[in-house]
Amino acid sequence: MAGLIRAVIDSSALRANLAAVRRTAPRSRILAIVKANAYGHDLVSTAAALADADAFGVARLDEGLALRAAGVKSEIVLLEGVFDAEQTAAAAANDFELVVHNPQQLALLAEWRDARRFTVWLKVDTGMNRLGFRADEFGPAFRKASACQAVAKLRLLTHLANADVASDSTTSEQLQLFDAVTSGLNHERSAANSAGVLSWPDSHLDWVRPGLMLYGVSPLPGRVAADLGLRPAMTLTSTVIATRRVLPGERAGYGGRWTARRVSTLAIAAVGYGDGYPRHMANGTPALVNGERVPIAGRVSMDMIAVDVTDLQPVKVGDPVVLWGEGLPAEEVAPHAETLAYELLCGVSQRVEHQFR
Ligand SMILES: *Cc1c(COP(=O)(O)O)cnc(C)c1O
Repeated sequence: MAGLIRAVIDSSALRANLAAVRRTAPRSRILAIVKANAYGHDLVSTAAALADADAFGVARLDEGLALRAAGVKSEIVLLEGVFDAEQTAAAAANDFELVVHNPQQLALLAEWRDARRFTVWLKVDTGMNRLGFRADEFGPAFRKASACQAVAKLRLLTHLANADVASDSTTSEQLQLFDAVTSGLNHERSAANSAGVLSWPDSHLDWVRPGLMLYGVSPLPGRVAADLGLRPAMTLTSTVIATRRVLPGERAGYGGRWTARRVSTLAIAAVGYGDGYPRHMANGTPALVNGERVPIAGRVSMDMIAVDVTDLQPVKVGDPVVLWGEGLPAEEVAPHAETLAYELLCGVSQRVEHQFR
């Protein structure tokens, strides 16, 4: 018997979304971002589906090691870099490329005595105030990195803070500052995340770094993936495990947060916050039962939710319940828990079976 809940991943959607990135940024190479278990889609299988990407980006060493252990030969970039000599050695042994964003990382490279050398992505902080050398620190950092024996190749990157908001001048300011600091240096450059790819052609440069859009989710407010020619890769599907009739005035779930206004039918689905379906999903959050939109009723439990199926044809134990994905964009569901599709996707937990199609 198949598991009660599964994340079905459509490999052809992943490939189509990668092709959409190519069409949108035809002069750029693609650093496909697969950190956080490929945004919850499963790291290794996703990398296999996205094998046409020019490189993969992960946040941390262990994620890169998992890709190498699975036989992935592509360029792999550690977006947070390394933090001690041991990690540096592991990165060298696995041919990882390193983002270098702070003076400690520059010092680690300066102390590196091995013959193996690195491709280093030197990061400029153009206003995100998270990682990278600020504009006034960049010159010295660049000279240090350039002079460093351990550095075989140098690339330059920055990260955009507000690229999802088309009317926000922050992005132009960040791009101008990046250009002012790096133009004329004759190194490959990168700035665009998914929102940059989609909304800011000036940000495309030599390398784009899409994450969310590869998974078929829109990063842009008020737009869903289909509006942008993208296809959702993940459909999170559970199963009805019980049904019941409730009478007007009766309540459902912990705290009795939902009250029947009429004679109602509830279907209980095997999905809860233990699967990564947020506990904060409000009454009325949409789900699909037998392909029809219905509202969830009452609080999310660890292993279950109730959905109000009163208006549907009779629902049976075993019927499918889609929480997000095909027919129900994650970007539309996320606001019901005051969150983003990013967090929904990444949050899908270990006990959810991943099935690649
Ligand atoms: C996560 C990440 C990205 C991808 O961002 P999306 O909004 O998912 O496209 C790009 N660059 C860096 C440095 C990141 O950490």
